[in-house]
Amino acid sequence: MAKRDYYEVLGVAKNATGEEIKKAYRKLAIKYHPDKNPGDKSAEEKFKEAAEAYEVLSDANKKARYDQFGHAGMSGSGGFGGGGFGGGMSMEDIFSQFGDIFGGGFGGGFSGGGRSAQSRGSNLRVRIRLNLNEMVNGTQKTIKVKKMKAAPGVTSKICSTCNGSGAQVKVMNTMFGQMQTQTTCSTCQGLGKVADKIPAGANEQGLIRDDEEVTINIPAGAREGIQLNVRGKGNDAPFGGSPGDLLVVVEEEEDKDIKREGDNLHQELYISFSEAALGTSKEISTVGGKVKIKIDPGTQSGKILRLAGKGLPSIDSYGKGDMFVHINVWTPQRLNPEQREFFERQMDSGEMNPEPSGKEKSFFDKVKDLFS
Ligand SMILES: [Zn+2]
Repeated sequence: MAKRDYYEVLGVAKNATGEEIKKAYRKLAIKYHPDKNPGDKSAEEKFKEAAEAYEVLSDANKKARYDQFGHAGMSGSGGFGGGGFGGGMSMEDIFSQFGDIFGGGFGGGFSGGGRSAQSRGSNLRVRIRLNLNEMVNGTQKTIKVKKMKAAPGVTSKICSTCNGSGAQVKVMNTMFGQMQTQTTCSTCQGLGKVADKIPAGANEQGLIRDDEEVTINIPAGAREGIQLNVRGKGNDAPFGGSPGDLLVVVEEEEDKDIKREGDNLHQELYISFSEAALGTSKEISTVGGKVKIKIDPGTQSGKILRLAGKGLPSIDSYGKGDMFVHINVWTPQRLNPEQREFFERQMDSGEMNPEPSGKEKSFFDKVKDLFS
């Protein structure tokens, strides 16, 4: 079955505000919550579907990507971990979202079959700046990450409040009326364990902040805003368990010479007066390496050369953008007496007088069409 549109799932308009999106999701989360619909598979599916839609639409980056590329943009292309939406979210992910949605305290109000003790460290998010070349061709980067690590020498013991179950049974007033409900143990935060011996500098879960070098392989075709998922390189879990993931968000480093416009690239090329008059060939940089281009004799300033396929690979098709080289003719600013005499002679000859023809005008119109 085709995946439903996220806006349709939440029943909000495309231009809905963050608050409207949150409100719509809150309503659905309560309606389809597993506690209210025990054993109902279709309610569970709807619950997960809504959580996934909210996960994307509540995040400005993901939302922008979704608006542009739809579901195709969310599963990522060419080996990206994406945000891991393809396979839906786990119940644990969904419940961990609830802190933001229902405000402090309410999250624990759900007995949540899935709300087991945290055995996983939290995810870390870092940004990485890549230049055009690195984004197109892929690269490997080693970065220093500040993360929470299990302090050496930390020991733990069973939590005496919950006897290691991580849960406490309480009678609570919830949105569904009064109900007996299991909540996360407030002593151990659901871990079932508390620290016994805490080494100096570590927090009460026995974690200490430390630097770690992480090597990240960036696949070819990365783009601004894409998120790479490096498994197990996030924060350590308290008292054993598996570490979280390192989420690497790609940022584009602005290039000094090459400007990007979608998949197309633009750069300025300055040529001398003599080169423009006589013609020449020039070597220019593209993301695929150096390329030689031919400048015809009599080239005018403002001419734009198009190098087909020398732009960026398109993110949602097999095509490639183009490189546009904007020619600027550099008028000499200093002349020696000999050159001065030469140009003075030309003033009288009339050969150098501008004579724009219809052909150039139509070319200008074409360019205008191209960039408007
Ligand atoms: Zn406990």
